[in-house]
Amino acid sequence: MPVSQAASSNTPLTREAMEAFWLPMTPNRQFKSKPRLFVGAEGMHYVAQDGQRILDGMAGLWCVNAGHGQRRIVDAIQTQAAKLDFVSSFQMSHPAAFELAGRIAQIAPSGLDHVFFTNSGSESVDTALKIARGYHRARGEASRIRFISRAKAYHGMGWGGLSVSGIVRHRRDFGPLLPEVDHLSHTHNPEQMAFSRGQPSWGAHLADELEKLLAIHDPSTVAAVIVEPVTGSGGVFPPPVGYLERLREICDRNGILLIFDEVITGFGRVGAAFAANAFGVTPDLITCAKGMTNAAVPMGGVIVSGKVYDALMAGPENTIELFHGYTYSAHPLACAAALAALDVYQDLALFEQARRIAPLWEAAAHALKDAPHIIDIRNIGLLAAIDLRPRDGAPGARGAECASRCYDDGFLIRASGDTLLLSPPLIIEEEQIAALFAAIRRALAAVG
Ligand code: PMP
Repeated sequence: MPVSQAASSNTPLTREAMEAFWLPMTPNRQFKSKPRLFVGAEGMHYVAQDGQRILDGMAGLWCVNAGHGQRRIVDAIQTQAAKLDFVSSFQMSHPAAFELAGRIAQIAPSGLDHVFFTNSGSESVDTALKIARGYHRARGEASRIRFISRAKAYHGMGWGGLSVSGIVRHRRDFGPLLPEVDHLSHTHNPEQMAFSRGQPSWGAHLADELEKLLAIHDPSTVAAVIVEPVTGSGGVFPPPVGYLERLREICDRNGILLIFDEVITGFGRVGAAFAANAFGVTPDLITCAKGMTNAAVPMGGVIVSGKVYDALMAGPENTIELFHGYTYSAHPLACAAALAALDVYQDLALFEQARRIAPLWEAAAHALKDAPHIIDIRNIGLLAAIDLRPRDGAPGARGAECASRCYDDGFLIRASGDTLLLSPPLIIEEEQIAALFAAIRRALAAVG
């Protein structure tokens, strides 16, 4: 079958038709022997190529916050595509870009009132790191080049994001990364906090490790601390009570910028526009993407405080303040999608809805405690992680098998090693939460 025909039909793809596409973050050869292909999506569900409806327990990849196929977003993209398909993002723009930046500034914590647009979370992280260095240089502190992040952190796949990544497997194959990076410990300690609900009460003191790193390197060499307020891909670790506050205080005392990577937590995931709002801690920069457009068009951004923006705007008026940007920054289709997504979030009161249903989500997640193989359960907002005891000699096998059984049963969840990760669209209803956790319970009972 010619490749073009394969792509447009619902008939299964031949191995030959699958050869050209190199899937990211996927064991390609294994995938191509048993591909998982979707041909449609609506609301809480995907439609697989074989016609099976699959409840989306991951909001795609932590991103389809209002559920799939939101009509208003679809219409906005179509209308925009017909009206203005593209305009260079360098030295020109279009009105929707300004409107969107204003709308995002409105829902961000107060003081974070400027937005630099990108096309992904990875670009947002690299952009934020460059803004941080640019900021210090603009203020005559060019010695501030060091970044401090955390073990188990995921900050995307760009060279900057990878350099501050705390996931060893992601870093290993690529040779030297940025050298001026240090990592704090992650905050997960099963002995102290197994099965804790929401923010663990233990662990704020781990922020004091930052003081130790500052003593070693001297604060005058440090540009920024970057953390996910809730560690996401690394295993869903909500911040210990008081931890983010302590990081903020130490950064303030030492002239260091604090960056929250909110690529997952942004746009409602923890029951507020941003985790910064939810936890009441305001960073200097927020990186975001994913839910910005409800994932309908790739888009990301860095939300920047007035302090940082003003420092970079202080030079001569006729010069570019930051030599940085992407062809598709503030792409018209992405802006249209994002404006419509914000309307949908507002009309559905989606962030409030996530906050309202979170206790039910928490109860359903923790009710799994007596199921087989479970060693920890964590949750916050509409996020959860379930750690399974690894099978002897086969780490990751039990997690993968459990996710695969859930899929065959009609539920999409994600396994990262032996940790099951859950992040459903925020429109999930009570019965769907019950059905999702019942499916996980069935899978756990069946896996050896
Ligand atoms: N930062 C965080 C916290 C993320 O979770 C992700 C993606 N999961 C990224 C950055 C990278 O985003 P993208 O895949 O859009 O580049």
